[in-house]
Amino acid sequence: MAVPKRKVSKARRDNRRANWRATAPTLVECPHCKASIKAHTVCPECGYYDGREVVAHKTKEEK
Ligand SMILES: [Zn+2]
Repeated sequence: MAVPKRKVSKARRDNRRANWRATAPTLVECPHCKASIKAHTVCPECGYYDGREVVAHKTKEEK
């Protein structure tokens, strides 16, 4: 098993951990229903992607 040759300094260890960040998802407006959706995903509101309905439209009365 590979073993580290030297102890990682506090500065080096903390600097590595400091670059760990969650990023906000890219939100775009659905071209069909104008809802705010994640980019490159089927719209969860109207089921449209690339100008056509690819999954069945989910309405609140169907639930
Ligand atoms: Zn939509």
